[in-house]
Amino acid sequence: MAHDLKELNTEAGESGVRTARRPGADRLPQSGAFARDAPAPDHSTACGENITLPVPEPPLPTFWLGAHRPHRLKQTNAPLFISNRQLAPVRTLPRALGPWALDSGGFTEITKYGEWRTTPQQYVRQIRRYRDEVGQLAWASQQDPMCEDEALRMTGLSIDQHQDLTVTNFLSLRWLAPELPIIPVFQGWLRPHYVRCAEKFAAAGVDLTREPLVGVGSICRLPNTFTAGWILQDLHAMGLKLHAFGYKKTGLASSWPYVASADSMAWSKAGRYERVCGTHSGEANCLSYAQSWRRDLLHHLVDIRARTYPRPAEPRAITAHDADDAHAAP
Ligand SMILES: [Zn+2]
Repeated sequence: MAHDLKELNTEAGESGVRTARRPGADRLPQSGAFARDAPAPDHSTACGENITLPVPEPPLPTFWLGAHRPHRLKQTNAPLFISNRQLAPVRTLPRALGPWALDSGGFTEITKYGEWRTTPQQYVRQIRRYRDEVGQLAWASQQDPMCEDEALRMTGLSIDQHQDLTVTNFLSLRWLAPELPIIPVFQGWLRPHYVRCAEKFAAAGVDLTREPLVGVGSICRLPNTFTAGWILQDLHAMGLKLHAFGYKKTGLASSWPYVASADSMAWSKAGRYERVCGTHSGEANCLSYAQSWRRDLLHHLVDIRARTYPRPAEPRAITAHDADDAHAAP
């Protein structure tokens, strides 16, 4: 991930400290965890003058580009997000050019079978193979049963039971392979569900604040991005480093300060009816189109960050014209 942040800063052409208002103060909903923040310290001087202190701008999230085809791993060094459903059947695995992350493929498995057919033991064997043969595996998602209506219908279980299965699965994977970078994932639907999921992990002895990354599932299918944004705010305020599954431009536009990373394959749907390259009938499977889509998204976030954390005006050199004006002043 450090690789990507470096890349982002290069793409942005800027980094460092800017003078800023509180993060997102002008556009983010002031409720939930954010509203509970301690008030900003008063930096007024004795004479009442306000001093604006420099506030470090949050780093931009790493964006993992969702890809259908495993051989993309050997074609680009952009951070890729690949499903286990795609990788598992591949006999000769590609060698990755850049960092990549593994999706457990849970949505397909749960909505197709109503249960996990891949056991934790099989999943751990698969991840070890990818680590050794593909290389550069940054992290892998645990096997979490998501909580969308579609998934609940297929399993016939409640959100509470899905969360219990999630925590149990994480404990199994951690016990089977403590050396693998498998991340825990929150599951739920509404804000209280995610808080409850955090309590379940804590009750099982998992200190999520010590995890390098914690996934947040099911938020990409919420009917609006406000609810998802509040959930991410709540979890960020707990001191967690979050990955937002299936989160793209609209959601990141307001929630980027709260997430360490996100992924999406939305480029493929967007490109289905476009012809940019002129060499194929659509861009739904075009790597060049996907990379361009990712760059646009990152530049969009750079613009938003620049507006949220504006740089102080650079001191201007005094010109002869200024000096003339000074002399002319009464
Ligand atoms: Zn193309």
